[in-house]
Order: sequence, then structure tokens, then C-alpha cells
Amino acid sequence: MPNPEDSTVLPSFATLDVQAALSHLGGSAQLYRSVLRQFYDEYHAFNLDHADEKQRRYAIHTLKGLSGNIGAFELYAITSQIDATADHALLPRLHDALERVCSEIDRLIPPSANPPNETKSALKGAEPLCDLPTVLIVEDAQSNVDILLQLLRPYTLLVAMCGADALAYVGSRKVDLVLLDIMLPDIDGYGVCAEIKSDPQNADLPVIFLTAKTDEASLEKAYDVGGVDYVTKPFRPKELLARVRTHIRLKKTIEHLEYIASHDSMTGLYNRHKFFELALIRFEQPVQPLYAVMLDIDFFKRINDTFGHAAGDEALKAFAHVLHKESPPSALIARLGGEEFVWLDSFANDDEAILAVEAVREATSAIKILTSQGETIRLNVSAGIARYDPARHYGLDTLLLQADRCLYKAKTSGRDRSAFRC
Ligand code: GH3
Ligand code: MG
Ligand code: MG
Ligand code: MG
Repeated sequence: MPNPEDSTVLPSFATLDVQAALSHLGGSAQLYRSVLRQFYDEYHAFNLDHADEKQRRYAIHTLKGLSGNIGAFELYAITSQIDATADHALLPRLHDALERVCSEIDRLIPPSANPPNETKSALKGAEPLCDLPTVLIVEDAQSNVDILLQLLRPYTLLVAMCGADALAYVGSRKVDLVLLDIMLPDIDGYGVCAEIKSDPQNADLPVIFLTAKTDEASLEKAYDVGGVDYVTKPFRPKELLARVRTHIRLKKTIEHLEYIASHDSMTGLYNRHKFFELALIRFEQPVQPLYAVMLDIDFFKRINDTFGHAAGDEALKAFAHVLHKESPPSALIARLGGEEFVWLDSFANDDEAILAVEAVREATSAIKILTSQGETIRLNVSAGIARYDPARHYGLDTLLLQADRCLYKAKTSGRDRSAFRC
């Protein structure tokens, strides 16, 4: 039984440069067989007689990319020339070369030897099994998809074979990088990229164009619509992988830096800087009455003094956890510094606001932290609540100042309570 992964079982023919194609496919003869057979199925009856100019351009362009993949270099040269010059006088030569390629494929791999193509259906739309970065492959030629699935095995892969599916994936799944073909059956790659980039949330999502177009205008356009890089077809596996790896690493680094710049490293809540950035947006578009709540742990210094600074840190984390868990999903909460926290939120009325704050305070009183010495730390928190009133508050700062005044009142009137209207 020949080993399907052994390249020596595939003899070299003049029309197909088997060795070049195999090195292009990472040495996998099995993948090469499957790509060749697919090429045959798609192109042995290739006919442009009834195609209009647009369909013809699309077909020639796709054929150019695929012929490079399979090592059909004569066909690649002819299609490249037609792609660049639109010289239709070359079409008879294209048909001759294509016929030679197809008959070689037929001799090389009899139809019955065609292995079922399970890779794609098994992977298409697969839910990520682990937190590997996710690459969305947008490519309409099945054999290119197969090659990419093979090459990009280290990633979680999604496949879209048209522009609309690509946009649906980007809108519904966490995607870390998009490999985007330009010629697609519906919206072209430029349109897909422009649409992706029209959402500010996708500003840092890297889009690498995969293209058989090598002219300057096409590549410039790829950058103009928001592409970060491009790889020309037929792609070289090492180059493609290196570019994917680099852009994913860059994206992950940016995400990490953004996280540490906007979060408090101890509690994981937003930090002061991010709070003001988000609070200003919220302040300018209030939907319901807006409330600011200042919270400060009571006698926190005593906790440090009695149980040590490390135990104090544990208490801060426990309080942050309770604040996050017990406040409504609409709450914008942050650690302002030390043992002081802030909460900006909308409530239907004052009673609702007070009820929500009291729920957090009650849950805080229930916290029990066991120290390594076996002692139990208990926590109480005081809160100051202020309701936004455009006639009274000139801006976010004055609203927060009033909440701070209320907090002071809660402290001076005995702690472990909340104060409103101060
Ligand atoms: P009050 O009820 O009036 O708020 O009294 P308090 O003791 O909570 O307030 P005070 O401002 O006197 O003390 C706050 C303490 O919080 C002092 C400071 O060392 C401690 N602290 C600030 N940041 C941290 C931190 O990150 N970790 C720990 N463990 N302690 C911190
Ligand atoms: Mg295409
Ligand atoms: Mg305190
Ligand atoms: Mg304080």
C-alpha cells in the first residue's frame, strides 16, 4: 500500500510541476491529490462561450490563482497575461493548456481515488474548541480553501465562500484575523473589507488580502479600504504563515496593552482613566435618570493594620467582586484608587437607585475573608448617591462631587450606610 503522504508516489509530468506544487502545499501529497481532483472537476468542461465580460474576468482570475497552486505554470502564465491585458486572442491557447492539465490530472489520479473532502465540512463554522486565535478564511475557490485549512491548522478556522457569509461571521463571532480574497461571487473583497472597517469595533481587526492581482492600483486599493497586508497568489506557505502570525501577535499585543491601560490590575475593574472616558459618553446620552454613587470601605486602614497589607488586598478584591456581581449589568463601575470605588448608572427613580446600592452594601457586609492565621475579616462600605439634575450639575465632575459630599455625610453620620440628597 503506498503511503498517501509519500510524494514519490506521484510521478512528475511536463505540464504539472509536481515538486514545486508539493513544496507549496507543505509536502502533503494527499492534499495535492485532493486539490488536483477538485481542479479537474471544476475545469475539465471549462467554457467561456456564454460568459459576459465580468464573468470572464472573474473566471480567468480565479483560474490564474488555482493553476499556480497546482504547479500548472504554463496555464498560470497564459491566465496571468489575459488577466493583465484582457487579450482574448489568447483564449484558444488557454483552452489547449487547460486540456493538457486536465488530462494529466486524469492520468495522475483516477476519479475513484478521489478522497472524500471532509476537512472543510468538518471545520466550516466549527465552534472554537479552545482559545486558539480564530482566522476567518474568505475564499470562493474550494481548492484554495483546502490548502489554507491545511496550512493554518494551528488556528481555529472559519470559512466563508462569499462576501455576505464573511460579514455574517465578523458580526457574530470573535475573529482575530481575516484572510480575504478579492474576487468573490457576490460583494468583492474590497467591499467586504470596507464594510468590516465601517464598524469602529473592528478598527484593530487585521484584514490580509489574498490576491492573484499584483498590479499597483489593486494593492493600493487593498490598503485604502483598510487592509493591513496582502499575500499574492499562488501564496508561499511560509510567507503566508509568517504574515498571519505577525498580525495576530500584533493584535493580541494591542489588546493586552489596551487592557492594562484601562483596568485596575488588582481588582480587574476599570481604572480611573477608563471610567472618565466611558462616563463622559454615558453622561452625554442619558436615557433614564442618571445616578452617581461613590463607595468607600469603612475603616480599611484597620484591616491593613490588623491583618497585614496582603489581607487588605484580598479584601479589596472581594469587595470588587461583590460590586461587580451585585450591581446591574448597566452599571459602569471602577476603582478610583485605594479603597474608593465609583458607580454610574441609570435607574427608573430614586427608590430603585437606593435599593440597588443597599443590595451591594448588604452583600458587602456578608463578605467573610479567612486569613492564613484562621482569622475572619468582615467588611462594611459607605456610599454617597447623587442624581443628575441638569439645572444643578454643570457636568460629570459636579455630579461626582455631590456624590462625594453624600459619601462624607454617610461617613460622618456613623459609616456603614448610604446618604442621598446632600
Ligand atoms: P474611612 O472609614 O474613613 O474610610 O477609614 P479608612 O481607614 O478606610 O480610610 P483611610 O483613608 O484612613 O485609609 C485607607 C487605607 O487604604 C490607607 C491605605 O494604606 C489603604 N490602601 C490604599 N490602597 C491600598 C491597596 O491597594 N492595598 C491595601 N492593602 N491597602 C490600600
Ligand atoms: Mg476568488
Ligand atoms: Mg475608607
Ligand atoms: Mg478612602
